[in-house]
Amino acid sequence: MTTADERTNLAGLDRAELAAVVAGLGEKPFRAKQLWHWIYHRGETDFANMTTLGGPLRAKLAEACAVRRPGVATEQTSTDRTRKWLLRFDDGNEAETVFIPEEDRGALCISSQVGCTLTCTFCHTGTQKLVRNLTAPEIVGQLMLARDSYGEWPSPKDGRLLSNIVMMGMGEPLFNYDNVAQALKIVMDPEGLAISKRRITLSTSGVVPEIHRCGAELGVNLAISLHAVRDDLRDVLVPINKKYPLKELVAALRAYPAANNARRITIEYVMLKGVNDSPAEAREMIRLLKGIPVKFNLIPFNVWPGAPYEMSPPHVIRRFSEILNDAGYSAPIRVPRGRDIMAACGQLKSASERARKGRATAMAAQVGGTA
Ligand code: SF4
Repeated sequence: MTTADERTNLAGLDRAELAAVVAGLGEKPFRAKQLWHWIYHRGETDFANMTTLGGPLRAKLAEACAVRRPGVATEQTSTDRTRKWLLRFDDGNEAETVFIPEEDRGALCISSQVGCTLTCTFCHTGTQKLVRNLTAPEIVGQLMLARDSYGEWPSPKDGRLLSNIVMMGMGEPLFNYDNVAQALKIVMDPEGLAISKRRITLSTSGVVPEIHRCGAELGVNLAISLHAVRDDLRDVLVPINKKYPLKELVAALRAYPAANNARRITIEYVMLKGVNDSPAEAREMIRLLKGIPVKFNLIPFNVWPGAPYEMSPPHVIRRFSEILNDAGYSAPIRVPRGRDIMAACGQLKSASERARKGRATAMAAQVGGTA
C-alpha cells in the first residue's frame, strides 16, 4: 500500500473548495481562479511552474498542498490502440479506465465505483462486490491522467484525441450521484478541462429517480443498459429492474430533459445467444420505445471466464440490427476493442483480486495448516 501524501490534493476540487483552500492560506480569492487555470487548463502539477503565482505563495502551496493523479498499477495498450489503466488509489483499492481511440478522436471510459452496487449477470464487474464509491477527485483524476498519457495539455479547444467521455466504466454512476455530478461539473467547466456536456454520456442500468435529476442538473447525454424488453428477463439480466421495472424506466426516458432528435438517448443492448436476440424482441423494443428519441448500440457479448452466456451469432446480430434500421433507427453493432488486453468491462480488475486471494489463502494455509 502506498503511503498517502497527507497534503491537500487540489486536483478534483471544485471552485468553492479551491477558494476555501486559498482563503485558508490567507490569500485573496483571485488566486483560486489562477490556480484553477494552472490545474485544469494547463494540467500543471508542480507549483514551482505556476509562474503567475508569487514565489512565497508557491512555497506555501508546496508545503500544504499537492496536485496528484490516481496511482497507476498497470498501463496497457492494445494492438488496436485501445489503452487501459488499472488505477490504484491511496487506500489500495483499484478501478480501471479505458481509452478507445478512433481516427482523430476517441472516448474515455471512466469508472465511478470500485466494484459495483449491482449484479448484472452478463457483466464481469457485476461479479465484484461494491467496495466503495469513487470520490470526485478520483473520477476527475481519470481524465487528467489520460491527458497526461496523451500529452493533451493545455486543454486543446480543437483536435483533441480525448474528445468524449463515457461514464461506462466500473460501477453504477447514479448510485454515486453526488460525486459523479461534482466531477462532471468540474470537467464541463469551460475555463478548465472544458469538455462540453454534448460530449459526455452517462450510462445507467436504470436508477429511475436519479435519471431526471441527471438530465436537469448536468444535461449530459444518457445511455441506458436495457438488454431486455420483458420484465421477467430483465429482472434476471439487470436485477435493478425488480425495483424500477420497464414501465417506470420508459416513462423516465420519455421525460429526460436533455434528449431530443439531435441528442438521442443511447439504448445499449448486449447480444446474448438464444436469450434476448430474437426478431420478436427487436420488434417489441421498437414498440416499447415508440416516440422517444433513441438510437441503439448493439454489443456482441464479450465472454469472460465463468460467464453464463454466449455471444449471439453474427448473422443473428445483423438481423436484429436490420429490423431496427428498417424502423428508422440507427443501430450500429459495436466493434469489440482491446480484447488482447482484456479491455472488456471489469476484466483487468478481477485478475488483481484473484491473485491477492490466492496469496491470502496460501498464507492462511501456512498459518492454520487448514486452507
Ligand atoms: S453493467 Fe454496469 S451496473 Fe451492471 S454490474 Fe456491470 S458495471 Fe454494474
